[in-house]
Amino acid sequence: MEPIEPNQTMKAVAPSEEQGKFTISSLERSSESLEAMHAETIIVGGGVIGCAIAFELASRGREVLLVEQSEIASGTSSAAAGMLAADSEDFAHPFIAQAAYESRELLMKHKDQISALTGMDFGLRRSGFITPFRSYMDLSAYKNKRSSSSSGEKTWWDRSTVQREVTWLNRDTYGAYYRPMESELLPVSLSRAYARSAQMMGARICEGVRDVRLIVNKDGVQGVSTAQGEISCKHVIIAAGLHGEQLMAQVGVTLPSIPVKGEIVAIRFPADQATYRPDRTVYAEDAYIVPKANGEVWIGATSFPGRKDHSVSANSVQRLLGAASYWVPGMKDAVFLRAWAGIRPSTPDKLPYVGKCEQIPGLYAAYGHFRNGILLSAITGRWIADMLEGKSAEEIGIEALSPDRINKKGVMM
Ligand SMILES: Cc1cc2nc3c(=O)[nH]c(=O)nc-3n(C[C@H](O)[C@H](O)[C@H](O)COP(=O)(O)OP(=O)(O)OC[C@H]3O[C@@H](n4cnc5c(N)ncnc54)[C@H](O)[C@@H]3O)c2cc1C
Repeated sequence: MEPIEPNQTMKAVAPSEEQGKFTISSLERSSESLEAMHAETIIVGGGVIGCAIAFELASRGREVLLVEQSEIASGTSSAAAGMLAADSEDFAHPFIAQAAYESRELLMKHKDQISALTGMDFGLRRSGFITPFRSYMDLSAYKNKRSSSSSGEKTWWDRSTVQREVTWLNRDTYGAYYRPMESELLPVSLSRAYARSAQMMGARICEGVRDVRLIVNKDGVQGVSTAQGEISCKHVIIAAGLHGEQLMAQVGVTLPSIPVKGEIVAIRFPADQATYRPDRTVYAEDAYIVPKANGEVWIGATSFPGRKDHSVSANSVQRLLGAASYWVPGMKDAVFLRAWAGIRPSTPDKLPYVGKCEQIPGLYAAYGHFRNGILLSAITGRWIADMLEGKSAEEIGIEALSPDRINKKGVMM
């Protein structure tokens, strides 16, 4: 097992994607002073959402500056499993189910665009997801529980089909749904690829920008002040994930973030055990098992609403490995690599805030993507860019995500 640095025991140990061709070190750092700068649009936050917005704006020729307090993808985006589970997730809102589908397909297009522009590969693969069941009763319970909103393409595999198609899955499996369009990727690599591509199309990406404060007056947004200087702008997009709430509070806007902690375990199959390694994602009720393009297999995830700490408990590791080794019995001989925790940014109604804050002209929110921020990144970039070009939330069809659905006391209206 890799030794873990003492200061990492209480922090997320970010997934190591820097293997082989999935290099994430090709982002050029911007060390310029921000003093007396101007940008049409400033994005605060360099997670997957901020980077996807920068990518979309830059590809439309807009002038954009992204400021990140730490490093690109150092927040929740570094902790995600990277599934694009548009057909497998049970979305609370039919509108999000449709958006998820569109975003997954948009990411497929971005893969080619980014590769042509930068040569970067973020490990996006469409190998399909399997949802297996132990018994007929489990299948019935699953069907009863699911809302009608998620109706993506799927095929039923009976026991003998499962045994033929996925030899590494538990042979006692009663049956499984196979969803062939489902995909997964490496989330840190995606965020960095978005940032690098945006940069190549003219965006400025600044990491290590401390003490961001919004400057507003009666006419709306004027700019932001930072420890490195003051920048004037027309629009500010708050894409700071869990920290979006604090930034909004600076100017009296109440948009609560709700933390939901999750843990993941990474393992690797030794070369002589390769036939036991899953080649498709298992999306079961008790765990997901995601084979990644960098050779690792990620097993997740726990869910602890209200928790913000980054520790990983022995109990969670035991539970995740226990569930996964039921579905993939051959993983008992795999090598444990590491485990990490991240904090999903949720909201009171579990829908993200995307759009204009009507009280303050020029101020936009793009955070609260809960457990689907990687999946919804591409479409969020498109929505925000459409709005900056003058389209209304109604025209785009995203009134349900409007930040104004929350009243001044932080209660849904
Ligand atoms: C265990 C786990 C598994 C997950 N699996 C999946 C999955 O399979 N598929 C999926 O779609 N989603 C998944 N998610 C959810 C996904 O990770 C999040 O929805 C997504 O990463 C949110 O991205 P973000 O850009 O909004 O936030 P973040 O990634 O947190 O980015 C926000 C950024 O803003 C910066 N910032 C904050 N405050 C400031 C400030 N004042 N000034 C400047 N910068 C600031 C932070 O440093 C950070 O880099 C998972 C999450 C967890 C925890």
